[in-house]
Amino acid sequence: MEREVRVRFAPSPTGPLHIGGVRTALYNYLLARKTGGKMILRIEDTDQNRFVPGAEDYIRESLEWCGIELDESPWKGGPYAPYRQSERKPMYMQYALQLVNDGHAYYAFDTAEELEEMRERLKAAKVATPQYNAITRMTMKNSLTLPEDEVKQKLESGEPYVIRLKVPRKEEIRLKDMIRGWVMVHSSSVDDKVLMKSDGMPTYHLANIVDDHLMKITHVIRGEEWLPSAPLHVLLYRYLGWEDTMPEFAHLPLLLKPDGNGKLSKRDGDKLGFPVFPLRWEDPFSKEISSGYRESGYLPEAFINFLAFLGWNPGTSQEIFSMEELANEFTVERIGKSGTRFDIQKARWFNEQYLRAKPDSELAGYLIKALEEHNMTTTPEKAEKIAGLMKERVSFPQDFWQEAKYFFVAPEEYSEKVASKKWNAPSVAVFEDFKNELPSLQNFNADTVKELLVSILDRHNMKIGQVMQALRLAVTGAEAGPDLMHIIEVIGSGETAQRLENAISKLSKYASA
Ligand code: GLU
Repeated sequence: MEREVRVRFAPSPTGPLHIGGVRTALYNYLLARKTGGKMILRIEDTDQNRFVPGAEDYIRESLEWCGIELDESPWKGGPYAPYRQSERKPMYMQYALQLVNDGHAYYAFDTAEELEEMRERLKAAKVATPQYNAITRMTMKNSLTLPEDEVKQKLESGEPYVIRLKVPRKEEIRLKDMIRGWVMVHSSSVDDKVLMKSDGMPTYHLANIVDDHLMKITHVIRGEEWLPSAPLHVLLYRYLGWEDTMPEFAHLPLLLKPDGNGKLSKRDGDKLGFPVFPLRWEDPFSKEISSGYRESGYLPEAFINFLAFLGWNPGTSQEIFSMEELANEFTVERIGKSGTRFDIQKARWFNEQYLRAKPDSELAGYLIKALEEHNMTTTPEKAEKIAGLMKERVSFPQDFWQEAKYFFVAPEEYSEKVASKKWNAPSVAVFEDFKNELPSLQNFNADTVKELLVSILDRHNMKIGQVMQALRLAVTGAEAGPDLMHIIEVIGSGETAQRLENAISKLSKYASA
């Protein structure tokens, strides 16, 4: 019988979620939605030393903002609760003991100093990667080298110990990755990983395998950095007797820096000129602030569409996909094998497309909000008209205010460059007439404004192209913008006349020249 697809996103709350992590969550989510399966979130917090306050809330908020819905999670619960590994602590020991009893794991009593000593010894002997493994374990203090009664006595007296996996010396470990195909690793390159720590907590490896098994996970989709651990995980499934229900693996290619040189890392912060986190993050210890996509004005739909394409493609030229469309189209097989360069211009492009697709009435909301922040008001009709005029010219919601401020505030400064080139006495003569005749214009709108301007220009024997830039300068203070007649229609005849008068007096030095 086909098993129900169950995927999980398993972050460790060691800091803010990196965009690479969001992409991992997204691909898991898309597979779950495509197959009618379940998306699970599990918090992997067995490493208490790396715990960062606020990180778990951050993960939750980020996924909510993106629209990645969870079917089972620490917050929602579910049939395999708890979903936080620290709360599952009592479950893991029995599996570690099963491995010891079956001869696949062993107790190790080595102190930190003894481990250090071993590493030094191996280094001196020019061993390339000094590690606790099939060869070196026989020189250490563990239940494979110590007499049975001594081991028993140590355990009973409460001496600290760890449980290590007994990795075979010579064995080829094969693993089928959905993206890379067969991956082969020789066991001699795998060390005897600690499974249970001396504090009674499992390590990532044991907890991850036990939980994936108990939570009936069918597919493990995760970052490429976990590929080296995968052979070890295969051994664990085998030794625990769970190989027949082992999940399928898909290791995602890395997200690379824009120049293709190396992985885009959390430490890049804002150094590359764009955020690497979905939401703004303030480090609770250093108080350092990192910017987020949300606060920078990215729409969650655009952010998701952009992330989906960083490593996956639909095989067609279509680029704009809603979450639902992505879920319909998504297949793990269409994820690329090689790393993907990060391209912030593309993220911006997606944002522009999503903004433009919104109705003017919704875009007007951004403007109204910004006006409120500046203690100003406007009518919904006016805001909607401005939003419609500006939508092709903005990349982010906050641009509506930045770029359209002149609809509400008369210019105080004028571009020197345009003024010196385009402001002159003949234009001013036209503007004098224009400002005087505007207030008596019947049916004031963009068309009638243009007719009036053209008729005045005729009288002065001039063409519209000769005055347009100067007129825009006078009315908006800017060099460029949407259709000027529509701007005047929105600003109104009285205000336009007033602005012309201001400009004529403030720019007089250019007209007399
Ligand atoms: N806790 C691991 C992480 O932080 C999960 C890796 C996995 O998905 O197996 O990425």
